[in-house]
Amino acid sequence: MKIQQLSDQLASQIAAGEVVERPSSVVKELVENAIDAGATNINVDVRQGGRESIQVADNGQGIAAEEIETAFLRHATSKLTTIEDLNAIRTLGFRGEALAAISAVSQVTIVSRSEGTDAGTRLVLEGGEVVNREAVGAPQGTVIAVENLFYNVPARLKFLKTAATEKRLIDEFVTRYALAYPQIRFRLTHNGRITFQSSGSGQVRDVLVAIYGPEIARQLLEIGDWRMEIEGEQSSHSPIEVTGFVGPPGVHFANRGQITLFVNGRWVKDTQLTYAVIQAYHTLLPSGRYPLGLIFMQLPPEDVDVNVHPTKTEVRFRQGKAPFSTVQRAVRQTLVADAPTRQMSAWALGSNNGGESPGWMGALNPEAFIGASGEQADLALSWLDESAAPSEADGALPLPQMEGDSGSHLPIMRVVGQVGASYIITEGPEGMFLIDQQAAHQRALFEQLQAEWAADNVTVQTLSTGTAVTLSEPQAQLLAQFQESVARIGVQFEAFGPNTFMVRAVPKIAASADPARLLIAVVTELEQSKGVVEEAGLVTAVCQTISLRPGQSLTLAQMEQLIHNLEKCTDPFTDPQGKPTFIYLSVAQLAREFGRI
Ligand code: ADP
Ligand code: MG
Repeated sequence: MKIQQLSDQLASQIAAGEVVERPSSVVKELVENAIDAGATNINVDVRQGGRESIQVADNGQGIAAEEIETAFLRHATSKLTTIEDLNAIRTLGFRGEALAAISAVSQVTIVSRSEGTDAGTRLVLEGGEVVNREAVGAPQGTVIAVENLFYNVPARLKFLKTAATEKRLIDEFVTRYALAYPQIRFRLTHNGRITFQSSGSGQVRDVLVAIYGPEIARQLLEIGDWRMEIEGEQSSHSPIEVTGFVGPPGVHFANRGQITLFVNGRWVKDTQLTYAVIQAYHTLLPSGRYPLGLIFMQLPPEDVDVNVHPTKTEVRFRQGKAPFSTVQRAVRQTLVADAPTRQMSAWALGSNNGGESPGWMGALNPEAFIGASGEQADLALSWLDESAAPSEADGALPLPQMEGDSGSHLPIMRVVGQVGASYIITEGPEGMFLIDQQAAHQRALFEQLQAEWAADNVTVQTLSTGTAVTLSEPQAQLLAQFQESVARIGVQFEAFGPNTFMVRAVPKIAASADPARLLIAVVTELEQSKGVVEEAGLVTAVCQTISLRPGQSLTLAQMEQLIHNLEKCTDPFTDPQGKPTFIYLSVAQLAREFGRI
């Protein structure tokens, strides 16, 4: 075949294919033009998934009558004049291709009236050729109707997906832009039915409600204005700003479709940034589930290259990894802030109790829990919702209500299950824990009672009937001798006959325990300490008596409550006698055991 130049029309049709792939790309280009025109109202009406018609109406600045034909020429734009402008694009469009491309492959009718003119202009184009032009009365703004898309490109037509698929893509697109431009009122109809509407109130939350419904929208966490100064020669020293919303760990989806990224008001698809969001949820979501993230990044336009692809959904950053880590930190910080009591930063400092650690702790380097760098420390977030804590009614364990976030030394853990009704398996950020339920429970009880006792303020439960306990002669003498010390830990009793005592009150945390057993445990402790009474020993004795035992099966809620309380302990590593509360297997250890590394 001879070499010859393509006809203008053929060249336009080929070029059109890059910009206009499908109906949703037409919607995208027209809506972007409306936004660039400063519209505050944008109505999108679609028929048959856009194959039959797509109409976008706006109340923006309009197009002057004498420029209207020009707008449909290839490379005709009002948004760019010099190559320098390309370095600082502030509009969504700039390539001057969309209207030319759309009109090359469809039948277009445009009615537009520009600001400050009396009459509007109506232009009809077919395959890019103007077939009709007239002056008409019209409100200020622009209405563009695109009919019979790809009517002259049968190859394209064949590859169009179903109307339902196109509808979904159009919905997605319009709702995403409504989020990025909450001050604009959007309305979307399919075959005459309104499927989405935003109020234009300027509040992103209102748009979130319109998209996700009030239940999910209410739970979303707002990313506090997050800035990161960029250092390095190439940067303009302007910060990257990140705002937006993220879902709490309890809200998750089957795919990444709910992670939406905007860079300087432009919806972009960037796998790296998407991954940054997913990373921030590390260990917080069940495997195979993805978070909801709505991320708005603002950075100096000269630091982003948006001219990567005709569809302008890809961007390149001049600042290398900075955008990635800024997004990751912003999201993580938001999640951490939502779960202040579950931070593990204190863990990084570790209160490894010096030489007293049992041997097995040698392998237990606090760093191991948080990965290589201390920077990971803020990774541990709440897996469990506070509200998920069981109430007394569903069989709550006698557990202390511990105060706030004073010293959290364990990472946040997710309960996996119970083994042999004795051990609890949990997952932490960097590995798994096998927890001795009895030891863990004793530790949690001990810290509570110990703290109350140290403040001379043990909360007691008075027994309405009292319980009589008869002891041996020497035991009775011992108990009478130390009555005051014993009362200070909350076990109150009085003489009730020969070698017999009546228990009147017990520590609140031991309220459900058998008072007789409690008293006997105290006496046994007094006997063993051979007269040198250490109240810490008495506290331990009480805790041993009332704690869980091996062989007691627990509900998930009970396990969660127990683990939550252990997480809050200042010294969670051992029980009050120094026996380990858990065995830890890091991801790396597991990998080694299985011969993966
Ligand atoms: P680009 O958006 O890249 O400039 P387009 O082909 O999409 O290219 O549009 C060409 C020009 O037509 C725009 O630069 C703008 O001046 C004008 N235009 C298009 N749509 C509208 C609209 N809805 N309101 C006002 N002007 C518009
Ligand atoms: Mg455009």
